This record gives sequence, C-alpha cells and structure tokens, in this order.
Amino acid sequence: MISVEEALEKVLSYIKVLDTVETPLLECLGQALADDVYSSFDIPPRNNSAMDGYAVRAADVLSASTSTPVYLDIVGEAKAGGTSDIEVKANTTVRIMTGAFMPNGADAVVKFEDTDETQRNGHPLKQIGILKSVERGKNVRYAGEDIGKGQLVLQRGTILCPPSIGVLASLGIDKARVIRRPVVAILATGDELTELGQPLAEGRIYNSNSYSAAAQVRRYGGIPRILGIARDTRKNLEEKIKEALTADMLLTTGGVSMGDYDLVKDVLAAQGEISFWKVRMKPGKPLAFGTIKGVPHLGLPGNPVSSMITFELFARPAMLKMMGKPVTQKPAVEAISESYIENTDGRRVYARAIVRKEGGRYYASTTGPQGSGILTSMSMANALAIVPEDIDAIKEGDTVKAIMLDWNEE
Ligand code: AMP
Ligand code: MG
Repeated sequence: MISVEEALEKVLSYIKVLDTVETPLLECLGQALADDVYSSFDIPPRNNSAMDGYAVRAADVLSASTSTPVYLDIVGEAKAGGTSDIEVKANTTVRIMTGAFMPNGADAVVKFEDTDETQRNGHPLKQIGILKSVERGKNVRYAGEDIGKGQLVLQRGTILCPPSIGVLASLGIDKARVIRRPVVAILATGDELTELGQPLAEGRIYNSNSYSAAAQVRRYGGIPRILGIARDTRKNLEEKIKEALTADMLLTTGGVSMGDYDLVKDVLAAQGEISFWKVRMKPGKPLAFGTIKGVPHLGLPGNPVSSMITFELFARPAMLKMMGKPVTQKPAVEAISESYIENTDGRRVYARAIVRKEGGRYYASTTGPQGSGILTSMSMANALAIVPEDIDAIKEGDTVKAIMLDWNEE
C-alpha cells in the first residue's frame, strides 16, 4: 500500500493546469491571473488634495500658530471632479476638498482643523486664518504615486484577492483573463442510495456524498457537476461515467472496497488506466485513482467521512494545481492532545478533532466516535489530528499535528 505522499504525487503527476478564460472582474476572485497587467495611465491622474482644507504655498504660512494666525485671501474653491485654472499666488488660498486637483501655485494643504474656519459660524469667508505651518507637499497626493503609467501592476499567476480586484478596477478593467475553474463531475454509486427530494424507502439512505463533495468543490473554487447516482451494475456505471468525460476531473464515491458490488475500480481498469488503489491511511484506505479517456478519476470511498477526508487530501490539491494555484497543504498546528487516538494497523490516522487555542497553546480533542460512517463527527470537527504510521497511539498530553480544516479557504 502506498503512502499518502506517494499517492498525492501520483495524482498530481496526471493533473495539468487548465486553459484561461476572460472573466467578469468579480468572478476572478480567487483565480490566477493569466497575463501581466500594465497601466496605461497614472493613478492618481494629477496632484490632488488628501484632505479637506486650504491649498496654500507653504512658504506663506511658515510663521502660523494659534496665537499668531497667518491670514490668506480665499480666491476660489476646488472640489473633487472639478477643474479650475485659479492660481494660488502669494498670500492667497483655495478652499479645497479631498480628491480635488491642486491649484497651480499651491504646494501644500492645511486641513480645516488647523484653520480658524470653525470659529466663523459658517459665514462665507473672504479670508482664512491659518493656525499651523505646513511643510511643502503636506496633504498632497502626487500624480502616479499609486500606479505610474506603463508600470507592471500585477504579475501573471497572481491569485486575485479583494485588493487586487480593486487595483484592476482602478485601471478600469472589467474583465480579466484568468485560469478557469475546473468542472468536477461527481457521481455517487450504490443501490442503497436515494436522491434528495425523493421519499426514503425502508432501508435506504440519502445520497449525502454528492453534496458534501460538491460543497468541497465549490469551497475550493471549482464548479461541481452532480451526475446523480449510478446503480451497482457495470452497465449503469459505465453509462454514467461517460457523462463525466467532458469534465476536468471525475469524483466517484463508493464502490471501491472489497465487496461484490464494488465495481468502480473494475470499470476504471477496463475503461481507463488505474494508477493506484489503496492508500496507507485511515479512514480512506480504498481510495482509487486513474484516468478515463484522459480525465483524472478519483474513486473516493463510499463512507461519508472517508469521502470527505480523501477529498481534502487529494482532490483539493488536484484542483489547486488545475487552477494554477500553489499546491499547498492546509495549514497545520502542533497541539496538545486531550484524547487517546489509537493506530491499530500502521496506517496514518486522520482523527476528526476540535482544536482550540488557550493560553497561547493549541489543544486537540476528538469529536467522539470515529467510525467512517459517522458524518456528524466530521461536521463538528475543525481539524484532523494525525497519528503517524509508525506510532501506536497518541496519548493524552502528547503533541499531535492537526490539519486545520477551517483555516485558509484557498
Ligand atoms: P461502498 O464503498 O460503496 O460499499 O460504501 C461504503 C459505505 O458508504 C456504505 O455503507 C454506503 O452505504 C455508504 N455510502 C456510499 N455512497 C454513499 C453516498 N453517496 N451517500 C451516503 N453514504 C454512502
Ligand atoms: Mg456501494
């Protein structure tokens, strides 16, 4: 049986970065930029005021103080979006609003709070008393100080986050070319499964795996395509798998164990090429992987917890690679275990755990029964505590590595 690392390496070796697509700006959030982006103009376009106040010549107000104000004649007003050719000559000033272009002649802005404006009870002013000196350039934003014309603003490969979406918008870009999101086909298998919305016949269970997997696909930036349920016959499975061949990846759940009706790996072997079956991990051992007509196919185990954990460990990195994102592991912490976590047969154990921080340290406790069918224990967990292959048990008080499921959505 191969290790988790060997299995992941095999999966990634079959995964290619997807092609690019021009995408409306907001839909680019979280995607990798496909081209370098340059600016064809300055931002801001001209020198402008960073404050509401008075545009002055700094040299005129050198001696200004609260006790000896310097009085300047107000020769005009400048507002954001306006233009004016008023010039600030010696001992004059222009009343100016944030974002308004600096009038010619002025080299600094004195903010309202440093003038006697508030003492005038809102009467129209002919003169203003400046109560504080300013150095040249104070409260002035210079043309191009954010982005210069011709500058490389964002490099290809950048993962677009809210600030970089804002930067693209400041360049007027309403569509950007990004690596597209993978379409991930999801096929449940099993005669016992009932589709949501249908009445549940005696002894049947609802198909939960398709929905937990689809939610994971969406969480990591992909587009889930739920194909429904294949029954446990080769014919039905083969038919349903055909529908997946236009997707970028196929996930099946179930049908990879040792049972008589576990046909997925047989179909994968017959229709495609199996890369591996079985990984030294618990839960998730029967994971199968291969390609069918070039489409990577992860045969996730049917048990709901196994399906979700193998998704996190293998489907997530595959999706990241397809989207041109760094294939990083989820962040992990070293925690003090508050539970006894057993490893009975030399596989790597991923135990559902709650990790919390207290007094600067992390503590991990398991979420109760760890049967791989007990999905509620997964929904309570925010972490997977790991017992390495060569350790029999993590005891209470031992240090345990925990993968944080709820950190870092990428
Ligand atoms: P299998 O590997 O197909 O034998 O499935 C293992 C276990 O997972 C069985 O108890 C199945 O009933 C259960 N299971 C398989 N597929 C699903 C699914 N889509 N939703 C919920 N449980 C499932
Ligand atoms: Mg089954």
